[in-house]
Amino acid sequence: MNQFDVIIIGGGIVGMAAACALGAAGMTVAVVEARAPVVDTGVRDARVFAITRASERIFRALGAWDAISARDICAFREMRVWDAGGSGAVHFDCADIGEPYLGHIIEPRFIQAALLERLQGLAGVQLYCPAQFRDTEIDGDQVTVALDDATTLTARLVVAADGARSPLRERLGIQVREHDYRQSGLVALVKTEHGHRETAWQRFLPGGPLAFLPMSGGWSSIVWTLPSEEVKRLLALDKEAFHAALGEAFDLRLGRIIESEQRKTFPLRRLHAAQYISKRAALIGDAAHTIHPLAGQGVNLGLLDAAALAEVVADAQARGKDVGSVPVLRRYERWRRGENQLMMSAMDGFNLLFSNARPPLRWARNLGLSMMDAAGTAKDVLMRHAMGLEGDLPALARSPDAVSETT
Ligand SMILES: Cc1cc2nc3c(=O)[nH]c(=O)nc-3n(C[C@H](O)[C@H](O)[C@H](O)COP(=O)(O)OP(=O)(O)OC[C@H]3O[C@@H](n4cnc5c(N)ncnc54)[C@H](O)[C@@H]3O)c2cc1C
Repeated sequence: MNQFDVIIIGGGIVGMAAACALGAAGMTVAVVEARAPVVDTGVRDARVFAITRASERIFRALGAWDAISARDICAFREMRVWDAGGSGAVHFDCADIGEPYLGHIIEPRFIQAALLERLQGLAGVQLYCPAQFRDTEIDGDQVTVALDDATTLTARLVVAADGARSPLRERLGIQVREHDYRQSGLVALVKTEHGHRETAWQRFLPGGPLAFLPMSGGWSSIVWTLPSEEVKRLLALDKEAFHAALGEAFDLRLGRIIESEQRKTFPLRRLHAAQYISKRAALIGDAAHTIHPLAGQGVNLGLLDAAALAEVVADAQARGKDVGSVPVLRRYERWRRGENQLMMSAMDGFNLLFSNARPPLRWARNLGLSMMDAAGTAKDVLMRHAMGLEGDLPALARSPDAVSETT
């Protein structure tokens, strides 16, 4: 009864998406999640996700998009990025590439609820929740997983989708390269004097980028990256002083800050697993990589991992191959590790370049921003990549209705 094709440890957005994809492909899947499902109390999430078009297609293909898009989500059609230390600026507009929008800003609770509903409707998928992964043994052609309540599960493949601190990755002995940015992300919901114009805004300050992401009802979710000490100071401010500091940091681009709620912080680290696979095991999402939030790509990359792994594994199953064998899993690792590395390096490069106040660098980056803005075709290609409309995408991220959308 406790035997499956695949066991997934971690039922966050990435783990649930992988389970839906594998379940829809006819495989039997166990999902082990430590936290009980969150009861939606109607309180807005302060931390929101900028969801790319590729991720939207994955949700569509998994049958979760209708439920997500029925909630209070906000499309963003433009993106404006500028440097506090000069006149360099870039403006991305979906109209320039004939698209209706660049992406959506979505609260995680909407995505979690939609995926949970889909997952519970799949006959081959069983959710163990709340239940905690305790240990695993790999023995010949099977992997055994022990849970904290003494349940034992077996499968041919175990997947770590258990987040940045991944207990399964640790148990497998997979090493990570880690870097502490010595920065934290301050998130909050804010209301501004002027409307956000369905635009994602990002101002690069010497301490790190400050983003305003559009939400419904004229609210924005901010992500303000700062040295950790500075974040502590901002957290302690009363509302009035916080609004003044935030308005100034944002150069009053949307007027004064007139309301705010839910100030929270997240420590920022970069982490990349040296391997994404070992015998009968694969890592996806934050268990494989955590990335600087400045381009809002973390969960989007994780969803591409989930779709790619599901594609590789379902394909192997259909051809009668062992889905937990290293040659099968290697295909997934080759596909995703390089792509993720590229995005991580690009984000680190941006962060380093923009945090530097030395005049020659400041001059060079402002020139770079202005050149990028004037680059025409190159800018359009960059925009399409960031939206997930180009690149070596898994089949789920190339769903047919999305293809007709773009033509
Ligand atoms: C400030 C900030 C802003 C961000 N903004 C964006 C954005 O705009 N766009 C974007 O794409 N990304 C963004 N990210 C990144 C995004 O938050 C992560 O990439 C994403 O949440 C990772 O999802 P995951 O499912 O891989 O991991 P998680 O969400 O961490 O899920 C892991 C799950 O595993 C479970 N688990 C852990 N241990 C066990 C165990 N022993 N047994 C069973 N279950 C276990 C946990 O309970 C959890 O549910 C941002 C991050 C930060 C910090």
